Amino acid sequence: MLKRLLNLIFPPKCIFCNKILYLNTDIYICKECFSKIEFREGGSIKSGTGDDYFDSIVCVCEYTGIVKDAVKRFKFSNKPAYYRAFARLLSQKIKETMDYRLFDAIISVPLHPVRERTRGYNQSFLISTELSRELGIKEESNLLSRTRNTHSQSLLPRQDRLINVKGAFTVTDSSKVKDKTILLVDDVLTTGTTLNECSRVLKEAGAKKIVVAVIASGRRF
Ligand SMILES: [Zn+2]
Repeated sequence: MLKRLLNLIFPPKCIFCNKILYLNTDIYICKECFSKIEFREGGSIKSGTGDDYFDSIVCVCEYTGIVKDAVKRFKFSNKPAYYRAFARLLSQKIKETMDYRLFDAIISVPLHPVRERTRGYNQSFLISTELSRELGIKEESNLLSRTRNTHSQSLLPRQDRLINVKGAFTVTDSSKVKDKTILLVDDVLTTGTTLNECSRVLKEAGAKKIVVAVIASGRRF
């Protein structure tokens, strides 16, 4: 009832083109824009590089075109509500391709508290919270914290990215990570250095298996 009322006052809009959608829409993306998304086929893919600490990756689509533009607005132009569409895309992919009941916890890549205050929200946490609701997996993002504020990764070459994130994350309670199968959530995987560093500390704390889940990536696995 409340949702209906809110939908009348704030009708659902496509996150890509802003077109007003049917009130009972279950995803905030119009048909035209949906057809423009470059989806990736299949389910989770094992990391093939040999230096990744995570075990596999599930990725909805290519980081290009309307998706790239929308992810940038999601992060940098105060559009927190986009999480609903992105989380739905990701949960659909996970439901269709994986036995997600194997996961003990969902953890999102943390922002440094200073950056989170400036932005007003952590976009990855919004996605992981929604995923937790949709998949029925416990949200435990508080187990991972960002202790060092890092430069924006997007402006750095790969080698500098590695140095930039090294030691930036810590596990807050190893006993809750030990032997757990974790779904590690972020918005985008570019080079993968941030997700890899998170995976490294989680594995050091005893995590059994880590599957990385992102909306989009430009990397081949
Ligand atoms: Zn649209």
